[in-house]
Parts: sequence; structure tokens; C-alpha cells
Amino acid sequence: MKTRRKTMLQRTNDPQKAQEWCERERAKGRSIGFIPTMGALHEGHLSLVEQSVRENDATCVSIFVNPLQFDQEGDFTFYPRDWDGDCKLLEAAGCELVFTGELAAFFPGRLDAQGEFPDSELIDPGPGAAGLEGEFRQGHFPGVATIVHRLFELTRPTRAYFGQKDFQQTLVVQSVAELLGYPEVVVCATSREAEGLARSSRNRRLSEAEKVDALALVRSLRAARDAWAKGERDARALEAIMQNVLTGAPIEVEYAAVRDPKQWTAEVPLGELQHAVALVAAHVGPVRLIDNLVLSDPAELG
Ligand code: AMP
Repeated sequence: MKTRRKTMLQRTNDPQKAQEWCERERAKGRSIGFIPTMGALHEGHLSLVEQSVRENDATCVSIFVNPLQFDQEGDFTFYPRDWDGDCKLLEAAGCELVFTGELAAFFPGRLDAQGEFPDSELIDPGPGAAGLEGEFRQGHFPGVATIVHRLFELTRPTRAYFGQKDFQQTLVVQSVAELLGYPEVVVCATSREAEGLARSSRNRRLSEAEKVDALALVRSLRAARDAWAKGERDARALEAIMQNVLTGAPIEVEYAAVRDPKQWTAEVPLGELQHAVALVAAHVGPVRLIDNLVLSDPAELG
């Protein structure tokens, strides 16, 4: 078994310093694993960090609540932030560098006179941004693609780690990596609490009662998974099964949808599916939550 040497976590709030650190690591011939985050770290984030520590010589994490990807001002303002707590967790997990910064420091000389990032310079998020999250959160994926593109340019990692929890984001990030020609994108399983609720920084804003209400999301995904296991292959029928579970739960559903993960479409796919992912988004108390399950993946059948 690989024993981990004790690492000291270096911290910086200057993206340029992070770039220099990564350049030095690369010059030493060390592989770099990179995990972009918005902080308020939980076990889900840490599972990505731990995988990176196992698979790379050095691991680096960014913590940046990226204003470009928020469509609701309140969500941005109240997004949980905990720099010191996050640093402790990252050091214990074996991360070597954590960095943050202001929007202007990530994009030096590129903001307009009002301090805004010009729309004309946003990166195209690719076909995975069509529909669902792309439709309900206007501007979200161009904002994600733009910051991920910049973070990749700064860190030039060997591998970058993302959670399946944000399914469409993994498609967008793949597009960005294809555009740049690097890094290898590694998609990691969704980490869940004991009863199945997908871990999310936004869960910190839920009361205990709201956390129980939020379980309706995973229940709807499991119902679709069970129907798939019994042979249901029609997307509309699977969506109806999800909707049935969600009806009556004290939550405000935005979508309960089934798509082909290998041939992403904005609209519901027709005909018999070979591959399927069930996706759900809902407002629960003060927050909006998303979750998904790849129905055609045997690993999800547990
Ligand atoms: P965020 O801080 O929400 O931007 O998330 C940073 C990364 O962690 C993204 O790639 C997320 O998909 C991933 N992530 C967030 N929650 C989970 C989870 N419950 N399980 C696995 N990965 C997650």
C-alpha cells in the first residue's frame, strides 16, 4: 500500500503564484492533479482530492466562488464560504497547494470599465450545455467554461477531477479540455449521505426537516433506476415515473428528465434507449439542488 508522506499545504490568494508553483512542479517532472471547487468543502470534494493524491505526484485545489456562473444574486451572496476550515481539510487529505483570487486577478486586463467580464470573451460551453441546467440557469455554463478554461491554462494539470453530481458540467468540462488539448478529465462518483442525499455545499443551508424533504430527489432517481432494471427503456415513461415520486413532496421541481449520456440532447430522446441518465433539479427551502443517476451503469444499481 502506498503510504502518504506528510505534506504541508501552501496557500495563496494570487492565481499567478499558483501558476508559478505548477510550472515548478512540472519542471521537476511531477504530475499534477487539479480539483476546481467553490469551497465549503465536504466529503464529496475530498473524495476527488483523495483520488488525485493517489493518482498524481502533486495535488492542487482552487477555491473560487465564480461570479460568472451564478444566475441568481442571492445564491452567490449566500453561497457558504469557509477558507480556514477548507484549508485544514485539504491539508489532511494530502493537497499541496490551494489557491483563490479575485475575478480581476484571474483575468488580468480583461475586465471592462465596470469590472465586468465581456460577454464576447466567454468560452463556448459546447453541446452538453443544451437544455436542463443550461435552460434553467441562463449564462451558467458559459461562466463555468470560461473559468475552467482559465484555471486549466494557469495550472496545466495532468489530470483534473470533477464530480458526476454535476453531470452536464462534466460534459462542458470535457469540451473545454478538448479545446485546449489537455488535461485528462476524470469523473468521480457522487458522494452521498447515509440516506442517499447527494452531498452539496448548499446542504449547509438546509434545516433537518428540509434535508428530509430533499430525499425526494434521490427517491425519484432510484424509482427510474428500478424501472430501468425491470426493462423500461422509454425516456418519457421513465420521466413519468420520476414525476410520480416527486408529486406531493414539499419541494418545487424544475425538471425530472431522462437523457442519453452518450448522445446529449436538449430535448427528451425518442425510441428505445441503450444508455440513460436520470436528472432532477428542485428548490428545497432556500436552495436549489440537483442530482442524477446513470441508469445504464451497473455500478449505480447498488
Ligand atoms: P463545487 O464546489 O460545487 O463547484 O464542486 C467542485 C467539484 O466537486 C465539482 O466537480 C463537483 O461536481 C464536485 N462535487 C460536488 N459535490 C459532490 C459530491 N456529492 N460527490 C462528488 N463530487 C462532488
